[in-house]
Amino acid sequence: MYTYIQPALHIDGEWITNTSGGTLEVRNPADETRLGDLPLVGAAELDRALDAAQRGFKIWKATSAWDRCQTLRRVAQLVRERHERLAELMTLDQGKPIQESRMEAKAAADHIEWYAEEARRGYGRVIPARLPSVRQTVVREPVGPVAAFTPWNFPINQAVRKIAGALAAGCSIIIKAPEESPASCIELVRCFVDAGIPNGVLNLVFGRPAEVSSHLISSPVIRKVSFTGSVPVGKQLGALSAQHMKRTTMELGGHAPFIVFADADIQAAATVAVALKHRNAGQVCAAPSRFYVHADVHDAFAAAFRERASRLVVGCGWEISTQMGPLTKGARVAAMESLVADAVAHGATVGLGGTRLRDKGHFFAPTMLIDVSPEARVSYEEPFGPIAPLYRFDTYAQAIERSNALEFGLAAYVFTLSHKTAVDCAADLESGMVSINHFGLALPETPFGGVKDSGHGSEGGTEGLEAYLTTKFVSELGA
Ligand code: NAD
Repeated sequence: MYTYIQPALHIDGEWITNTSGGTLEVRNPADETRLGDLPLVGAAELDRALDAAQRGFKIWKATSAWDRCQTLRRVAQLVRERHERLAELMTLDQGKPIQESRMEAKAAADHIEWYAEEARRGYGRVIPARLPSVRQTVVREPVGPVAAFTPWNFPINQAVRKIAGALAAGCSIIIKAPEESPASCIELVRCFVDAGIPNGVLNLVFGRPAEVSSHLISSPVIRKVSFTGSVPVGKQLGALSAQHMKRTTMELGGHAPFIVFADADIQAAATVAVALKHRNAGQVCAAPSRFYVHADVHDAFAAAFRERASRLVVGCGWEISTQMGPLTKGARVAAMESLVADAVAHGATVGLGGTRLRDKGHFFAPTMLIDVSPEARVSYEEPFGPIAPLYRFDTYAQAIERSNALEFGLAAYVFTLSHKTAVDCAADLESGMVSINHFGLALPETPFGGVKDSGHGSEGGTEGLEAYLTTKFVSELGA
């Protein structure tokens, strides 16, 4: 079994284990054993972090893009070297299978490298002037110190996109990482520190989320807020940010439609559906969670899904055979039970699973629900767990209308062998991302983000740097 770390905060270049905010017990979601005590910030440490971020910003903004790039490359190298340890820590407190943790840790290095390169591409432009003696230029500048809030489902991936994006642009950052699964994020920050990031540029805190966010967002030091989490919290933080005129990136929840047309390769669709649905036990904002299947192929798809999902090995993340681990938060098991009971009360049939597993740990079975009513809660509440509700449709228009019916708009999946249907879906789906005949989302070089209630702004792609830059226009007479 892996060993845990002594959890700590990082403020102004110093690792801190004694704080004024008390401590919180961190537990292993697979066996519920205590892993350690997490120090929580109080107002005094938050003020220290703000002060450090302000000083750090001055230093980092004045560091050339070339040097920022070189530092970030060193971080990526350290993350690669340490990925096994990062993965072990993530499996211990977040619960995902070790193979998934390794992939996430290695992918973090790819994200950092992408942003290292993008750091050198914060291009401005020259606009032809109306007078020959005027020179008009547009320059991009780092927006300022950033406050970032990241959730427990991808402790490294969610944090690294914000940290690397902000640092590439020349911003300093205070990140409040997840209290439920802090260790891998702490070790990720250690990679940045060991690679030579100046004091104050990257500060890591844990605390009572609402206290930390209201303290940081209302501070005049913070110029940008980036949040990943649920829609209700995103709306609260968005309102607070607007009150203080802070720019925001909001990566909020999703309820992704997965449309299987009659001409689809059903076996391929089922393979992708089962892999995506059960990755990280379904605790993925872009996970498919409404399966619209054409009536002609519905039963064949359901059988193929059941056959694959019933073979999944559910267990502790550190056992190498495990394909799906526990839910991170104990309360989510009761939430799964409640969603299933409600769907059944609305007429659904349980085609697979539907129950919690084991006496210890937060395990829930891979679950397929058939003929789910649109009135059932699971049809409009993000399940954020291993529940796959299936719905039949007859026409293209029905599939699109039902897919677009919710206020969510993060990811959508389409399976069809018709190029016309694929192109039409890409245009008609109200979604920030559409993946057709495969899973092709969340790469460092591609934008990741939603529309409607799923938020605004993108991480990854060239948009990822854009999020941390402002535009300055300079007009000079006599040039
Ligand atoms: P939650 O709404 O209580 O918290 C979601 C995240 O936001 C957590 O990391 C939490 O620490 C943080 N948070 C909560 N209140 C905050 C505040 N006032 N200021 C700053 N941060 C705050 O939900 P939960 O029980 O942790 O998770 C359940 C739901 O959250 C899921 O059903 C899912 O919809 C959503 N979620 C989405 C993502 C995502 O990647 N978009 C990640 C985690 C959770």
